[in-house]
Parts: sequence; C-alpha cells; structure tokens
Amino acid sequence: MLDNIQKSYIKKESIYGPDNYKPLPVVLSKAKGVWVWDVNDEKYIDMMSGYSAVSHGHAHPELLRVFHEQSSRLSLTSRAFYTDTLGPYLETITKMTGFEMCLPMNSGAEAVETAIKASRRWAYRTKKVKPGKAEIIVADGNFHGRTTTIISFSSDENSKDDFGPHTPGFVSVKYGCSKSLEAAINENTAAVLIEPIQGEGGIIVPPENYLKEVRDICTKKNVLMLLDEIQSGLGRTGKLFAYQHSCGNCSCDIGCKPNQPQESKPDGLILGKALGGGFMPVSCFLSSKEVMQWMNPGSHGSTFGGNPLAAAIAKRSIELLDEDKLIENSKVMGEYFKKSLIDMNSKIIKEVRGKGLWLGVEIDPKYISGKDLSKLCLENGILCKETHETTIRYAPPLTISKKELDWAIKKIKSVFEEVEKKAA
Ligand SMILES: *Cc1c(COP(=O)(O)O)cnc(C)c1O
Repeated sequence: MLDNIQKSYIKKESIYGPDNYKPLPVVLSKAKGVWVWDVNDEKYIDMMSGYSAVSHGHAHPELLRVFHEQSSRLSLTSRAFYTDTLGPYLETITKMTGFEMCLPMNSGAEAVETAIKASRRWAYRTKKVKPGKAEIIVADGNFHGRTTTIISFSSDENSKDDFGPHTPGFVSVKYGCSKSLEAAINENTAAVLIEPIQGEGGIIVPPENYLKEVRDICTKKNVLMLLDEIQSGLGRTGKLFAYQHSCGNCSCDIGCKPNQPQESKPDGLILGKALGGGFMPVSCFLSSKEVMQWMNPGSHGSTFGGNPLAAAIAKRSIELLDEDKLIENSKVMGEYFKKSLIDMNSKIIKEVRGKGLWLGVEIDPKYISGKDLSKLCLENGILCKETHETTIRYAPPLTISKKELDWAIKKIKSVFEEVEKKAA
C-alpha cells in the first residue's frame, strides 16, 4: 500500500508531467540483478525488465565497470570525428549477427525509421521503383514505436488518433498469414516489416512456417525482408534472434552461427532495448552493403548515435550474451517457467504463449482484469504489467537463477489461487 512518501512522488509526476503512462502504484529507487526496491526498501522481483531492455539484469557488474571506465575517458564526440570505440563495436556486432553493416542509433523507434528510410532508398535507387511510390508492407497488431511515421501504420487507434496527417506508403496485412502478405506485394513494394513474435501486440507467436514463407516470398518478389527484433532479439526467446526458431533443419541449438545457411534470415534487422545493457538507449539497423550503400554523407544521422559510451556498452552487452550463457539460460528457464505456469492449472489462465523468458499469460477477464492482476502481483512482490488488457507479460532478466524463478513462481501461484478463491 502507498504511504505518504510514495504518494508525494506520484503526485509530482502527475502535476508536472502529462498522463501518457498509467504506472502501477509503486515508486522504485534501486535495483540489482533481478531485484528492485521501492523507496521504503520493499523488495520486488522484476518480471518486466524494462520491456526486455534489462536482459542482463540491473547493474550488471561488468557493464557497470565498462560504463564507469568509458564515461570517465570519453562519452560523447558526435559523428563528426572517428573514435576508438565505434569501429570495434561495429565489427563485433556485424560478425556476431552475420550482416555486412550496422547503422547505430539510440531509441528503437529511430532504428525502425532508419530501416524505413534505407529500404525506401534501396527501392528507388537499386530496384528502380517510380519516384514517390515506394510501399512498405506491415502487419496488423504491430508495434514499432511512437514517431509520427511509425504510428501511421499502427492498428492501435489510441496511439494514432488525432496525431495525423499520417504518413502514406504503408499497407497493413493480417499477421501470420503469408498469403495476404504476398497478395499485397506490387511493383512498388520496397520492403516487408514485421516482428517475428509480436510483443506489445500480446506475445503473438505466428504459425511455424510463417517467417520462412515470408523469406521465400521476399526473395521471389525482390522485396526486402525487415525484422524488428527490438524486443524479441538478443536471447529473449532462447535463441540469439527469434527468427532463428524458424530456420528449418538448422542443427544448432541456441543461435545459428552467422556463416551457416539461415532459412529465415532477413535482409535487414532492427535491434534496440537489451542492446543498451539496461544502462542507456542503444539501437541499430543491420543490413547488407547493397542496402547501406545509399546511406551516403548527409543522408541520415543522429547526434548521439554510435557515441563512445553507447558503443562500449553495446559491444560488451552482446559479448556477455555468450560469456554469461544468457541465451541458454533463457531457453532452459523459459521452458521451466512455461511448464510451471501451465501446471498451475488455473481456471484464470486461458493460454500461455511465448518462447524463452518471454511469456504471455492470457487471462480470463471473467475473473479479473489484467490491470487488477498486475496490481495484485505488485502487492505480492512481482513487477509485471498487462499488455492488451488480458495478457500478462512475464519477461524477467535473462540472468535469473532457478532459485529466483522459483521464488517468483510461488508468488504468482498464490496470486492466481487468491483470485480463484475470491471467484468461488
Ligand atoms: C519497444 C519496441 C520498439 C520501440 O522502441 P523505443 O526504444 O521505445 O523507441 C519498436 N519495436 C518493438 C518490437 C518494440 O518492442
């Protein structure tokens, strides 16, 4: 329950800031690993991880060391000069992902904008689409960010109403249906932009062959396949990238090696969130030289994009995925977590979706709303938040141990039991 200290902080936010978020009633003050404390030193387990931006856990000691070391040496220069951090970072991320080039940005939405701009240039200059005609195909229920162009192709009314006029050039088709996607392609189509699993849309996992079919269609029709793995990427689903679950007979277990054939590998990949190691906004767009060649001097940029601090943190963040075995842990703990939720056999739970440590629990609104369930979780020491009203998302840091996860599972179970008892 809120005391006067918490109430005063909440009041300040609501007086001096607009109401564009509706936070849960808790005021957080510090965090370490999977644990977070409020201003009164009450402890919670973080099952939200900043929408998957805190995959490495809070204040990862090695990232903290890099953060201190790099920020006391060189934080910001702008891209008007070369630095001794950007090149090594670009080399590491392109080798690790198997893409030829990486264009660094800050927020996820900026990296999506970068992908849109780069694929439009490719369409006009390589594919020779008629001037001003390029189209990008997206999926219903998508979430790619909050800029005016990106909300233009959202299907969420509240995120776009009265923010127009909207940017033209986008066509939305049914998510998970490669037939409707293929039917929407014409000679002006530059790219297809989708999430391999829709996150904000409610952890929606498409049919198993979907991405491979999209890949085949894009190749056949000379259209760029762009995947937004801002939330699903970097180990969240138990593979390095979510698209690697759809790489057919690929034999590797956790993440395909970049130089192995990958049946669903996109032409462009968008990363963000966990790339910043839970410390700062870092995002990027990865693609081929063929696409990137048109991003010439003056065409695009960002004051903070690729800054030394961001480059150092991002380089270390992706190295740690391997060193700390975070992808493996996501897979193993995720399977255990999913099974535990299903085994609760709660009548409140209609479905458990997702892969790795990225689970969506679809609840029956007959018993409780997603919002009230999130509040109940909070009162029991679990930080989580509903998405799409009836889906509770559980996405702890990928560092979570079995013991910590068991602590969370026990609490979650008692929450569901409490709701059931009340309903009976
Ligand atoms: C969070 C998210 C974005 C936007 O990232 P921001 O850093 O909030 O701009 C874009 N796409 C997906 C899939 C996301 O989950």
